[in-house]
Amino acid sequence: MTSTETERTAGRTTLAEIFGGTHAVIDLDSYTSNLQALQRLIGERDLMAIVKANAYGHGAVECARAAEEVGVKAFGVARIDEALHLRRAGIDAEILVIGPPNAIQVDVAVENDISLTVSTELSLEAVLETTKRQSKPARVHLKVDTGLHRYGSTPELAIELAKQMSKIDEIDLVGIYTHFSSSDEIDRAPTDAQLAKFHRVLDAIKAEGIEIPTVHFANSAAILTGILEGSTMARAGIACYGLDPSSEVPVTSEFKPVMSMRSVVARRSTLPLGEFVSYNRTYSAEIDEEVADIPIGYADGIERHLSNRAWFSHRGRRCNVLGRVCMDQTVISVPEDVSEGDEVIIFGDGSQGEMTVAELGELSDTNTYEPVVRISARVPRVYLRNGRVASWSRPFLNEHGEASSTN
Ligand SMILES: *Cc1c(COP(=O)(O)O)cnc(C)c1O
Repeated sequence: MTSTETERTAGRTTLAEIFGGTHAVIDLDSYTSNLQALQRLIGERDLMAIVKANAYGHGAVECARAAEEVGVKAFGVARIDEALHLRRAGIDAEILVIGPPNAIQVDVAVENDISLTVSTELSLEAVLETTKRQSKPARVHLKVDTGLHRYGSTPELAIELAKQMSKIDEIDLVGIYTHFSSSDEIDRAPTDAQLAKFHRVLDAIKAEGIEIPTVHFANSAAILTGILEGSTMARAGIACYGLDPSSEVPVTSEFKPVMSMRSVVARRSTLPLGEFVSYNRTYSAEIDEEVADIPIGYADGIERHLSNRAWFSHRGRRCNVLGRVCMDQTVISVPEDVSEGDEVIIFGDGSQGEMTVAELGELSDTNTYEPVVRISARVPRVYLRNGRVASWSRPFLNEHGEASSTN
């Protein structure tokens, strides 16, 4: 066998193994079509695709590669490590660290052409020291806190930092931005107040004769509600993945959920009348009940809070979760015709009776972001392109069955 044939055989084996267990399916066609829908909404502006937290659990490298193919020129991540991960995977576009930069990693960030956010005197000092050492300019975005009160400078400090940075040759002040606290609510008042504050800062900086080419503030919710005027770029996260920013600001029907999660029936059995199921006996059968054990649990990101609340889907039918969700297994109620080895859908676009991410979020008392972000590194991801499996990532083992590191 040639090495490619060996690889292919090894690949097939691995893929069958993945489909035989719990896995997440990531439809990259839906992802790119969501990006294109966002691009239509923002018109001529640049789209920054937010791929922090492993692209909200969807796989940062695979998503970024697909996004580059449809013309996305900027990515946002929260940590320098996440940016390095993308650079080392060959992503050439601008990568902005939207979170506070870890001072110790500023060196390696600048070395790798990663854009940093400066909001404090300390972060500016860290960037300055690095650029002097490396005799290489750093690309910087200035973040203004206009009401969220987390990372960002006060309007006064923002103006001061802009003045300082404009005098330093080693610093390329390419962008200025702010972030909304409540753009996913129907009430626009808090967002308008933040925008007014932001525009006052922009005007003051302009009055100093300082030009900052890129201005951005819109997240997914703001893009969907058309809050874009005065910006040259928009930062979209949740909508890229086809999920609603909130119930008040949902995505339109153009958007498609990108992730679905699937597993298989590991064991079929009858829970006799009066018997309890799973830890601490929180569910008992009122009749002899057909049940199935599914190898998925809170270690995969299906949280224990869903015990006796959630449902999985088997061929379009709802199968309630019975008793406690365990670390690695969950028991569901099933119809008579279910067999061991059958597929069950944990969540997806809802077209086969499965929970949507919005429903899952509601049952977990959280938003649409957390259910996908918490799908753990243990869960293999299968990537679809043109309706076919294009690639996959699997923790612990690479496609040759050798040890691989997880991310
Ligand atoms: C996460 C994040 C975004 C993306 O927000 P979505 O609601 O997912 O679109 C944009 N900007 C900043 C600063 C963020 O932290």
